[in-house]
Amino acid sequence: MAYQLIQTDITAIDNIVCPHCQHAVVDWSEEQYVQPCEHVLFIAMDLGFEYISDEFEQSMSRSVDEIHAHDDQLNMFEELTQTSYPNYLIYRSDLGAQNLSRYVGFIQV
Ligand SMILES: [Zn+2]
Repeated sequence: MAYQLIQTDITAIDNIVCPHCQHAVVDWSEEQYVQPCEHVLFIAMDLGFEYISDEFEQSMSRSVDEIHAHDDQLNMFEELTQTSYPNYLIYRSDLGAQNLSRYVGFIQV
């Protein structure tokens, strides 16, 4: 398995911090709260992508445009795990509504 899933107790209003450089990659004190550092591969919710790196998108079986074009049948977790990307971490946090999650992908260093 190329990815490692880490279930976090981060809530929808907490910042999400990079495990490698401690940068807040989701920072609610910023107007643009998505603040990826160089270790971030993607930031996504079950409803769609908030950020994705070019490198990670190329490793996915479908492009983000394709995925969003068919988002009525979106299984975000499946899209994020059926990739050819070698080694990565997925931090899953609960959005606290409708069983939705946010997923943040980090490279392994
Ligand atoms: Zn980082």
